[in-house]
Amino acid sequence: MPSKLISIIIPFYNEENALPLIYAELLKIFQGLKEKYDYELIFIDDGSEDKSPEILEGLTGQNNKVKYIQFSRNFGKEIAVSAGLQNVSGDAAILIDADLQHPPELISEFLQKWKNGADIVVGMRKNYKQSRFRKFCSYIFYKVQNAISDIKILPNETDYRLLDRKVVAQFNKFTERGRIVRGLLNWLGFKKEYVYFSVPERKFDKVGYNFPKLARLALVTLVSHSLLPLKLAGYLGLSITFLFGAAGFLLFVGKYIFNNSFARSFSGSAQLAILIIFLIGLVLSCLGFMALYIANIQNEVANRPLYIIKKKKNIND
Ligand code: UDP
Ligand code: MG
Repeated sequence: MPSKLISIIIPFYNEENALPLIYAELLKIFQGLKEKYDYELIFIDDGSEDKSPEILEGLTGQNNKVKYIQFSRNFGKEIAVSAGLQNVSGDAAILIDADLQHPPELISEFLQKWKNGADIVVGMRKNYKQSRFRKFCSYIFYKVQNAISDIKILPNETDYRLLDRKVVAQFNKFTERGRIVRGLLNWLGFKKEYVYFSVPERKFDKVGYNFPKLARLALVTLVSHSLLPLKLAGYLGLSITFLFGAAGFLLFVGKYIFNNSFARSFSGSAQLAILIIFLIGLVLSCLGFMALYIANIQNEVANRPLYIIKKKKNIND
């Protein structure tokens, strides 16, 4: 008899080609592990517009270990994973991409490390093919994120990971909507182990995360986890005020006390213009940062539901 239940969480968006394959692979893996582990497969449909929902209807009908949550629209992978984690009933959960870029054969290795006491097992990618531009942008993102925030993310760690049930329970307490799941998981702590793998090419031509979507995710992550930009605006304001205060003071002293010719060459309106332009720049930059924060606060305070479920299959409330 299997003693442990493993919940596999598979978020997907328009993956009609990949779904039958990942399902077959997962089934095969758990066939091999059936002495020790039982499984449930939680598929979260992040608003697919292709034939994916029909495929899932078929799978839920033929296998009641397939659970299906269908969102009413596309909410993004981070939210889809969060919905999956809120519906886990297993002793451990494994997050895996539907597109087969996370090789399912690593699952037994994940389980082994978990059995040996790890609370989180993280899949680390050894290689990753991306355009130079995207590589550059993600390099900058990780550098900035890790420098300014207490939510640390390593560039080569993936969402492919196993979480003990106690980690899942803690994760489900997070309420922020601007979220990056692996960042929040890192913040939680717990005992971690790593498994290294090479990322295979995407078999089916489609990138769920296009660049604007990634850029938005990066911006939200930076703003929701750090106050540094606001502080920087403050520092900028302080230094400009200090510099201009000093310059104005020197000009005043040079002109009226020492009668210095350089100081006298500044007309009153020239001084005023420079001062005003810099003050306007200062005010605008502060406003820009404030706007970012207010947008974020508004988003969190509105306290809308994280996601909207259109349909559930094989899942009890
Ligand atoms: N995905 C999702 N919602 C989205 C975009 C992607 O659920 O809005 C899923 C996608 O189907 C896949 C996983 O998230 O299972 C990873 O997406 P993708 O392969 O596009 O990202 P990458 O491999 O570049 O990290
Ligand atoms: Mg992928």
